[in-house]
Amino acid sequence: MADTKQWGGTDFQGLGFEWDPQWVLTGAQKRLQEKLIDLCDKHLRANAIESDQGRIYPRKNFQILAKHGFLGLIVPKSLGGMGENHTAAAMVVETLARYGCASTAMCYTMHLGAVAAAALRHHDNPTLKDILSRLDRDCLIGTLSYSDPETGSHFWYPISSGATETPEGWHVRKKASWTTSGGFADWYIVQTTSPGFDGNYADLTCFLILGDEARYDPSNWNGLGLRGNQSGPLEIDRVVPKARLVGSIGDGARSNDEAVDPFFLLLSSACWSGIALGMIDITKRHTTGKTHKDVGMRVADYPTIQDYVGEAIIDTNAVRSMDFMLARAMDEATNNCDWSIHQKDASYLPRAAYLHWLWQLKFAAAKNVAHVSDKMLHACGGTGYKPDLQIERYLRDGKAGWVMGPTNEVLRQFVGKAALLGFGALDYWNTSVNERVLHNEIKKLDADGKRALAERLLAEAAPKTTGLAA
Ligand SMILES: Cc1cc2nc3c(=O)[nH]c(=O)nc-3n(C[C@H](O)[C@H](O)[C@H](O)COP(=O)(O)OP(=O)(O)OC[C@H]3O[C@@H](n4cnc5c(N)ncnc54)[C@H](O)[C@@H]3O)c2cc1C
Repeated sequence: MADTKQWGGTDFQGLGFEWDPQWVLTGAQKRLQEKLIDLCDKHLRANAIESDQGRIYPRKNFQILAKHGFLGLIVPKSLGGMGENHTAAAMVVETLARYGCASTAMCYTMHLGAVAAAALRHHDNPTLKDILSRLDRDCLIGTLSYSDPETGSHFWYPISSGATETPEGWHVRKKASWTTSGGFADWYIVQTTSPGFDGNYADLTCFLILGDEARYDPSNWNGLGLRGNQSGPLEIDRVVPKARLVGSIGDGARSNDEAVDPFFLLLSSACWSGIALGMIDITKRHTTGKTHKDVGMRVADYPTIQDYVGEAIIDTNAVRSMDFMLARAMDEATNNCDWSIHQKDASYLPRAAYLHWLWQLKFAAAKNVAHVSDKMLHACGGTGYKPDLQIERYLRDGKAGWVMGPTNEVLRQFVGKAALLGFGALDYWNTSVNERVLHNEIKKLDADGKRALAERLLAEAAPKTTGLAA
């Protein structure tokens, strides 16, 4: 392994390894990182420019990743995967975003989220085992389709989706407002309300849907950044075989807490930090290479620029430290991402214990990338405003961090509310009555208003009659 970071056959001009927490990685993970930096240098970064300019899905990058075994990063070795852990996953996403392509890093984040949901419940399901064992050989890209047009960023509330059992299999109806890799993925994990739905939106179920079973229109995607990630609306309305059930009926909330959320929050945060680092790298290269002839100073010689870069490194490394700390905590809780620990007891959810920490991480990472991207643009001046330096692309890519669900508005409220009022107050599925608000509003009614409300409520609560005479 090279002691110094290499790029284009010479020493890397951004931040060196001395600014990376290399001590969190095993020897094998450092070798993976080195290979990935090389792939980014030779192929992925150039493809990022093409993806951004033409809104082109980064399949070329995925084919390269598959050739080197990265699609099966967290798949058990017994199924042909690398059997790697959360730390490796965070490192790979961060590396992809930093040196390669942020759209690819986000699509890969969603891929690993889908792999986690499948791996969690693959034990007795030959269809899931088959997919997991062919990820790299056949370059099978997975993704998560959760967000619902009726509930916006409350992606855990699939109001316009459902599933029913038929003699031929499950009739899955899914309307998703956003799906990264939509229309380009080879397989989707989708969440709907459970078959037999009785109005309880906490009762959720996951299904495996294959690429050609979903309807998607690529021309619908036109985002500010992450322009290769193709996250437009998607629709599914068809009967799929019984083996497409992921886990048991009603397992959706557990799947969210143990697989989808922990992986999405950990890895999307690694993506935002990767983008921040990519911009710091570019800023170092640009500001040390440009001189103002009148004063004979390089841009990097101005203390203001040094302050910008210093603060950006400190803030970004604080977020990365939290990311790798949580990856480590989940590695320890799961015997390094050993999926066999879930085989016997579907209610065993060790990762779920860290969710409220992962909320904090995603908030901090998305907030940081927005701040750093602003400051690195300022440090690079007008040159940064133009596409050539690539600061401008990263800035647009990073803007997705704050608005991707769970959004930062939602997360800071989750954390504050849970800390002040307890986790029960979060009320994800809008089922618990806020007595304080209720009584306060009723207090405002006069006697007539109270009477009218009481009559309306009594009418609503009256038992339904069949209309038949007794
Ligand atoms: C690049 C990109 C890729 C994506 N990929 C996927 C994907 O692969 N799969 C998927 O399922 N989804 C995906 N999404 C969707 C994403 O997770 C959100 O669902 C989506 O961004 C929400 O957009 P919206 O316009 O519906 O926001 P809204 O939910 O309408 O939010 C509007 C505003 O209201 C705020 N708000 C919402 N609820 C609350 C609340 N309870 N309290 C306080 N404020 C609130 C929001 O924070 C925001 O400021 C992606 C989004 C982006 C931008």
